[in-house]
Amino acid sequence: MNCNDYSVIEQIAARYNATVLHNEEMKHHTTFKIGGPCDVMININCEALLSELMQECRKSGIKYYIIGRGSNLLVSDKGLNGVVLHIGSDFSDIRTDGDIIECEAGASLMSVCQTALDNSLKGMEFAYGIPGSVGGAVYMNAGAYGGEMKDIVVSCRYIDNGEIKEIPVSEMELSYRHSIFSQKNYCITSVKIKLEKGDKAEIKNQMDTLMQKRKDKQPLEYPSAGSTFKRPEGDFAGRLIEVCGLKGTACGGAEVSTKHSGFVINKGNASCEDVLSVIDIVKKTVKKETGVELQCEVLLME
Ligand SMILES: Cc1cc2nc3c(=O)[nH]c(=O)nc-3n(C[C@H](O)[C@H](O)[C@H](O)COP(=O)(O)OP(=O)(O)OC[C@H]3O[C@@H](n4cnc5c(N)ncnc54)[C@H](O)[C@@H]3O)c2cc1C
Repeated sequence: MNCNDYSVIEQIAARYNATVLHNEEMKHHTTFKIGGPCDVMININCEALLSELMQECRKSGIKYYIIGRGSNLLVSDKGLNGVVLHIGSDFSDIRTDGDIIECEAGASLMSVCQTALDNSLKGMEFAYGIPGSVGGAVYMNAGAYGGEMKDIVVSCRYIDNGEIKEIPVSEMELSYRHSIFSQKNYCITSVKIKLEKGDKAEIKNQMDTLMQKRKDKQPLEYPSAGSTFKRPEGDFAGRLIEVCGLKGTACGGAEVSTKHSGFVINKGNASCEDVLSVIDIVKKTVKKETGVELQCEVLLME
């Protein structure tokens, strides 16, 4: 039973005119379309609100969860006991200054890519089609088709224990699906990206080509959280899963995609437990058959 008192949290949100939702089903906020209700969700609309809420939660021992666009998350069927700080469209301004794009953390990568295209700036075509927020993308060091956030980010503003700080990319420890933000309790509030002047038609062509590749190879017609597993060194999770004969393996509504074995998809009303069961079968079988221990890229939130 929930015994948290959220009245102070809600007063803070009210001062900033932020939207507060109660018992909001997390499945409406994840691309997997999975996840039970959270006690309280606050749609963040500025840095100061985020900082105050994080400090208050810490002071009163309330658990908080940071989510962006929910595209790399598997949320528990039981939901989340605490406050969800939702960094999405209410905190998504994008500004350009020459070849620099500065965006609030909730801006979608797609809108940032669109801004780059509108301004004939090249360098982030790789990110076109990744359905996350720019904050979530830096946190994960998201990447595709030979590019990653590491290549284009200059610096970020973030909150550390209520204090707003700035960090250059050289100190972010960005490597394959890893950043300093996942090691410490830092919350990214804005991201500065540097691109290069390019040819608009060429940029558009590259974005369209990569989007078509995604459509051809990935099961975008079903809810998922993208690649379920990280790429093991020197190989591909999808290839290993396929050679182990696991394509189409299903538990309840969750299934290893027959189109792309690296994706576990929600074929209809899958629960978090269904997905975890499929992941468990895949990990155990791949380990037994090939000796490779697959690591999850998708993050479990409970
Ligand atoms: C169809 C599909 C295709 C995908 N393709 C790719 C791909 O090609 N490459 C790739 O790398 N990923 C891919 N992904 C995964 C996902 O889109 C990325 O990991 C994305 O960067 C996650 O961003 P998000 O805003 O959705 O983060 P969320 O899923 O909401 O959160 C992910 C993690 O980031 C943390 N977080 C989010 N925002 C912040 C913030 N502002 N400050 C601190 N922490 C934060 C959360 O607490 C959580 O731990 C794909 C997903 C889907 C569904």
